[in-house]
Amino acid sequence: MEKKEFKAESKRLLDMMIHSIYTHNEIFLRELISNASDATDKLYYNALQNGGAGLNRDDLPINIVVDKDARTLTITDKGCGMTKQELEDNLGIIANSGSLAFKEAHDLGDDVDIIGQFGVGFYSAFMVAKKIVVVTKPVGEQQAWRWESDGADGYTIDTADKTENGTEITLYIKDKTEDEDYDRYLETYTLRGLIKKYSDYIRYPITMDIEKSREWEEGEDHPEEEEYATYVDHETVNSMIPVWKKTKAELGEKEYEEFYKGKFNDYENPARCIHQNVEGAVTYTALMFIPARAPFNYYSKDYEKGLQLYSNGVMIMEKCADLLPDYFSFVKGLVDSPDLSLNISREMLQHDRQLKAIAGSLEKKIKSELLSMQRNDREKYEAFFKNFGLQIKLGIYSSYGTKKDLLEDLLLYYSSSEKKPVTLDEYVGRMKESQKYIYYACGESTAKLDLLPQTELLRDKGYEILYLTDEPDEFVIKSMHLYKEKEFRSVSDAGLDMEDEGEQEEIKKTAEDSKDLFAFMKEHLGDSVKEVRLSSRLKTHPVCLTADGNISLEMEKVLNAMPNNNEKIHAERVLELNPRHPIFAVLTKAYAEDREKAAKLTDVLFAQASLIEGVGIDDPVAYANAVCSLLAD
Ligand code: ADP
Repeated sequence: MEKKEFKAESKRLLDMMIHSIYTHNEIFLRELISNASDATDKLYYNALQNGGAGLNRDDLPINIVVDKDARTLTITDKGCGMTKQELEDNLGIIANSGSLAFKEAHDLGDDVDIIGQFGVGFYSAFMVAKKIVVVTKPVGEQQAWRWESDGADGYTIDTADKTENGTEITLYIKDKTEDEDYDRYLETYTLRGLIKKYSDYIRYPITMDIEKSREWEEGEDHPEEEEYATYVDHETVNSMIPVWKKTKAELGEKEYEEFYKGKFNDYENPARCIHQNVEGAVTYTALMFIPARAPFNYYSKDYEKGLQLYSNGVMIMEKCADLLPDYFSFVKGLVDSPDLSLNISREMLQHDRQLKAIAGSLEKKIKSELLSMQRNDREKYEAFFKNFGLQIKLGIYSSYGTKKDLLEDLLLYYSSSEKKPVTLDEYVGRMKESQKYIYYACGESTAKLDLLPQTELLRDKGYEILYLTDEPDEFVIKSMHLYKEKEFRSVSDAGLDMEDEGEQEEIKKTAEDSKDLFAFMKEHLGDSVKEVRLSSRLKTHPVCLTADGNISLEMEKVLNAMPNNNEKIHAERVLELNPRHPIFAVLTKAYAEDREKAAKLTDVLFAQASLIEGVGIDDPVAYANAVCSLLAD
């Protein structure tokens, strides 16, 4: 029998395949099963066309047989089979899949891992098999054919005996090596897992003999040392009907939940299930879930985002990251689209227009589901936001505000007046007619912010303040700048614009009168402060510390707490004094009569303001001494 060589380019590809230690070599089974399913589809379709009633998918199983002794794995289908010419055309040339042409057209060079990059169909079997035998009988013909190849050398085609139409592919599994445990492909347990994982939703039964054990029946003869009787069950391994292909009406909440937990290894029910069918420019079905709790590694580098990607019920990618933006990376689920080809690679996916369109549509859907949860199930939404709100905030911040429109309505911040988390929309809806700004305060906890001197007068005057307690909060607010054309203003910012004209006049006058005192204090404090000035934001507290410029005191804390930050960030401090507080009169008097005392008072007030603000003081001992000496006065 003449041995034919593979076409030159196929040979090269085959060579790469044989010597590859591609980590995902397990996908060969998916490829072969999907080929078998396609071939059965062709037969089924033709039978339907020809009025072939009575043909049932259940009668067209794809059977898997393992022979451990012979080290073979056989996949048999009852599909359309192949003629001799088809064998030559289909299995003699890899160019069919177009991968090599693509590789050359894009000048990718030889060192590119072509298997990782392209779906390679039938040839992927050479990653695990040293020899492959294909016996096939085309439907409607008498003669069956045998194709055999042990790799790069070439292949032979010969006649064969086979009564039923269809194809039987036998893989002679490679010997176990140090790098790769090929033996596992001879274990029904492994194969079953792979079928479940990749081919669960193939619409024909995938059957296998599975060895099981049972207890001996009463009176049954058995060797004493054998505790259980073993028997073989011929089982259908795949479930065949994709849950997502059922209608919402067919599926109860339970079914969604069970599917989620089984598929995505969560022990808790999801916070929300999203089932979407889209037809039009792109056609797809998506089944997505919002977990009730953030996975333990969610905010770490280890967490991998992505949705499973199916093409007509066949999984083509386990985690397609391109389908989810980072700010929605918490979403679990899958997308099934007939528009995607099976042989699509990671590389090609990135540029795939269909995929981009699907991703865009998913993003909108996720947002609208979150908003609906926010409106209709607030408690659940609050829990969601506790888990994943930080990720949404980071989305706004890391996109430099370009994702603001998309994400701003999803934010929740604790409100000083409502005493619970509120949306920006709710805040703006409650703003006083004369109120220009959305006020916020940043700090460690809402309890601490309630005690912050700067928030007291604003609250007293009936203004609502958003309490920001997450580290990136202030950066996020700054990158948003506006919400519904209202500017954000920190309670520590200059110009809070809450005094009436009379009050403003009075402040101006006092400030003028105290000019020399402030100059004295500034000189005494030196570089520790940029300015000492009069405050209009304080009610019962004598002093507060604020910052001038772009860096607030909160931001200084956050930035300096970051690892690898060698250059310390410094916010420009401003010491503000409350003219209504009795200590102000004491200070004014001391300045006129006793400069030494005025200097001590200045030190103590500055230290207090720093402590309240949580930025700490450089010299606690000097502070304590100053307090003592004032007390002893
Ligand atoms: P692809 O499936 O992407 O076309 P493959 O290399 O997997 O590429 O298969 C090449 C061709 O071989 C298929 O298109 C099909 O025509 C044929 N083929 C493979 N497996 C079978 C099978 N089990 N039954 C019939 N034809 C098959």
